[in-house]
This record gives sequence, C-alpha cells and structure tokens, in this order.
Amino acid sequence: YVTLRLILGDQLNLKHSWFSEKDPSVLYLMAEMRQETDYVKHHIQKVTGFFLAMRNFAKALQNQGHEVHYIGITEELATKSLPEILQHCFDTYTIQHFEYQLPDEYRLDVQLKSFCTELSISHQVVDTEHFYTTREELGQFFEGKKQFLMENFYRMMRKKHQVLMVGNDPLGNQWNFDHDNRLKYKNQVPVPPMAVFPKNVQDVLDEIHQAGVQTFGQIEPHFFIWPINREEALEQLDYFCEHLLPHFGDYEDAMHTEQAFLFHSRLSFVLNTKIVSPKEVVDRVVMHFYKNQDTITLSQVEGFVRQILGWREYVRGIYWRHMPDYAQRNALDNTYPLPEMYWTGKTKMNCMHHALGLSLQNAYAHHIQRLMVIGNFSLLTQRHPDAVDAWYLGVYMDALEWVELPNTRGMSQYADGGILATKPYVSSGSYIQKMSNYCTGCHYDVKSRTGEQSCPFNSLYWNFLDDKKAYFAKNQRMAMMLNLLGKIQPEELYAIKKRASEIIENPDLF
Ligand code: FAD
Ligand code: SF4
Repeated sequence: YVTLRLILGDQLNLKHSWFSEKDPSVLYLMAEMRQETDYVKHHIQKVTGFFLAMRNFAKALQNQGHEVHYIGITEELATKSLPEILQHCFDTYTIQHFEYQLPDEYRLDVQLKSFCTELSISHQVVDTEHFYTTREELGQFFEGKKQFLMENFYRMMRKKHQVLMVGNDPLGNQWNFDHDNRLKYKNQVPVPPMAVFPKNVQDVLDEIHQAGVQTFGQIEPHFFIWPINREEALEQLDYFCEHLLPHFGDYEDAMHTEQAFLFHSRLSFVLNTKIVSPKEVVDRVVMHFYKNQDTITLSQVEGFVRQILGWREYVRGIYWRHMPDYAQRNALDNTYPLPEMYWTGKTKMNCMHHALGLSLQNAYAHHIQRLMVIGNFSLLTQRHPDAVDAWYLGVYMDALEWVELPNTRGMSQYADGGILATKPYVSSGSYIQKMSNYCTGCHYDVKSRTGEQSCPFNSLYWNFLDDKKAYFAKNQRMAMMLNLLGKIQPEELYAIKKRASEIIENPDLF
C-alpha cells in the first residue's frame, strides 16, 4: 500500500468521498483502542455500540472492495496509543502517505496534529463531510459578540440552508414554536412501541471483558436495541417520521414514569457516529412534513429541526471556539464529588431515581431529564463540573466531548459563566411537577420547602439563589427570582438553607 487512511470510531460516514472509488493502493485503518475506552469510565452499552458500529462499518467497506486493517480490542496493539498504532502500521505496510479526517474531539485533534509534525512521510487532513458548518463558522458569525445567542445562529442557519423557509421568511411567519412545545404527557395519545434492532452481542461483550475494559451500567446481551448501521439508522429515521414526529414538539419536554423515550427520535448515536448526516435527517423529516401537513403541524417539525440544525451545530461551534479552556471553567466554584446514587440510581427522590435509573439501564435519557433533573440537582448541590462532565461523557450512548461538554458544563452547569445560557437552568420541584408525573408517589412533598418531607429541589433552589445572589445581581433574567427570594422571611430562609446544606453534604441520604 502507498496510503494509509485512518477512520476513527465516530467517523462511520459511508457517503464520504474517500469511498467513492476503490483504490488498491489505499489501506484503511480502524482500531478499537484502550485510549478511547479508558479516558473516562463508559457505560457498557456505549462501548458495545461503538464496537458493533465500527465492525459493521469495516465489513461494509470490505464488501465494497476497500482494503481495511481492523484492530480488535483484545489485540496487543489495542493497548497502545494512537500514534504508536499508526507508526506500527506505517512500518508493517511501508506506508508513504498518511491521511485522516478532522477529529471532532479536541483531544484527538491535538494528538494527531502533534503526531504529524514529527512525520517523515507526507500527510493530509480532510473534512468529515458530516456537519452543516465548519468548526470556525460559529466563531466567525459571532465575531466581537459577548453573548452567543443560539436563536440568532439558528435563524441564520434556517436562511442559509433554506429549511422551512419561504424566501427570507420562516414558514408560518414564526421562527420558534417553543412555547407550544411544553405539554405534560397524560396519555393523551398513545406512545408507539419503540423501534428496536435486537441483536445478540455476547461475543463483543466477552471481548470487552477479556480485554479488561472497566465499564458501568446495564446491558441485555441478547437484546441490544440500538441501531448500529446505515440500514437500521434509516429505518429508525423512517419510524420516527411516521410514528413519533406528529407529537414530537408537543411532548418534547415531558417526562413520565412509564415512558422512557416518549416521542424522541433516539437518533443521536447514529448521528454522532456519522452513520447518518444531519442534512439527511433534516431533509427527510421536512419532506415528510410537507407531504403530511394534514396530520403534522409545523410546531412539531420546527421543534425537531431546531435541535439538529440549531442546537447540534451550535454546541459544536461553541466547543471549537472556546476549547481548550472551556473544559477548565468552573465559574460558580463548585467542588463536591458526585453522590453514589449516580452509579446506582438509589434515592428516595422519584425524579432522580427515574432519570438516573433510565440512564443506567438504557445509556439514554432525554434532554429534559439530563438538564432539569440530573443536571439541575448536580448544580443545586454544587458538584464539581469535572465530575459532572466525566459522568455525562461516560453514561450516554451519544456522548462525545464536542457535544457533551457545552451541554453539560455550559448549558446545564453554568460553569462557563454564561457563554451558552443567559441564565442557569435551575428550578425548584414545581417545574418537575409541571412537566412530569414524578411527584405523584414520591417520598417527598413537592409543595413544601422546609421540614423532613419537603422536596429537596425546593430548599436547594432557594439556597442556590441566596448563595449566588451577588453573582447574578446584574442578570436581568434572574431579577424576578431574586426579587421573590428577597420576600422570604429570615427564619424561613434559615430553615431552607439548613435543609439545603444537609442535602448538599449528604445527598445519598435523601
Ligand atoms: P431528540 O430529542 O429526538 O432530538 C433530535 C436530535 O437533536 C438528537 O438526536 C441530537 O442529535 C439533537 N439534539 C437535541 N438537543 C441537542 C443539544 N442540546 N445539543 C446537541 N444536539 C442536540 N447530546 C448528544 O448527542 N451527546 C451528548 O453527550 C449530550 N449530552 C447532553 C448533556 C446535557 C446535560 C444535556 C442537557 C443535553 C445533552 N445532549 C447531548 C443533548 C440531548 O439531550 C441529546 O442529543 C438527546 O437527548 C438525544 O436523544 P434523541 O436522539 O432521542 O434526541
Ligand atoms: Fe423530585 Fe421533588 Fe417531585 Fe420528588 S417531589 S419527584 S424530589 S421534584
């Protein structure tokens, strides 16, 4: 071979121009690596899903006639670093030219760049041909601005890519239907059964264990449900359009004890591994909407498009604009480690029990469970953003640092000091009660904020506002809540803060 092309585990884009022609002088390299399984402890379903998807991808390439060298997790080479693996392959195959696709993880970007500065052979870096935007586009769009408002970026994207637009105006003359998308789920419409792609993953599991990779969370070896290749991903996308899209927007923020996925698409894993592209997903969904306007309203489809064309591209831009220092930020100086319940799901708080339990069971929780239950609790109890990040990066199927970090450290923990969110996403129990049925049947009373039965989120919330009132004094969006805080009588505030500090010190007792 003359050329070696590296394919990372989240670069499974069969439509990449690399693969448009068969070239016998090109060798593709894919590797299951300990450096990737071990940078944080991962959920077992995440590791399994990545390996399955990578193995499928390698087979698909081979079936198309490409040459692939695949390194499995039990091989000795898998324990080496990526530069060592590359050097080994260069030597084995007397490679004269090296190519790789732009990594989305900062860590890998640095590692590969530094490897290439020392190389004696030529090299080339190419785009992944996956995202709508380049790494730099968001930074350029917000040049000179202090606050990077997602809504402004999203409108630019809608116009630029002509999605749900009539010329320069948004379809329906409204950009954002967020306020329509806030219904509680009370069995108004049945949730269709989840689309599953069951497979037996015992072999892969055995190899992961044999290699000694440390993981956590649960897995059903004979019934792995996630889509892991293009056919399954496209089937999942079709299923979403047919069955889930009609109610996606309405129940986007809802949570329910009997429903793990509600109307969410569960496409994040196949998107983040680049098995499908955001444009494919958006185009398919928008086309389905145009053909079915009698049964699907604009607010459902706009809500979905905003997540992918807006949020997903936006957080990626924030990541590349602010790394590496973004990963160090801790604006609110939080220092506590994570409670044990994050690994066991054991707590008397029904909302946390469900959201953590689902995360451990499925390697999945939807965005409101991540943001307004687990993230909210983490921030209100002052957990260190490093610990919070490591947990989120490990637990979810779709967790890759470029998307996890801005969502967790930025949006959810406000550790970036407000680059991403104009105010912290914190709430008392009342928000959780409004959006879920968790509080019915909870050990705690969502209506009270002091006393042994009181909902922990209540005392924690007012304690947070009181602790941070100087920090947020100039934030207009916090003014109303700080005003309400000022009306609490000193004796009650004392009792609230006492209870909050007991929870913060010993969260696992609650
Ligand atoms: P749906 O609700 O069906 O949404 C469709 C798609 O929109 C998703 O597949 C995803 O690609 C995209 N999307 C939605 N919200 C966001 C968002 N805030 N940022 C980026 N893309 C978004 N998403 C990840 O992909 N990886 C992560 O590691 C991750 N960590 C998160 C951490 C926190 C604290 C929060 C609040 C959100 C996080 N998200 C993350 C965003 C979101 O929760 C998931 O993308 C979503 O739950 C995936 O499930 P789904 O495919 O069913 O999503
Ligand atoms: Fe969560 Fe409080 Fe509701 Fe219990 S009462 S489910 S702790 S919000």
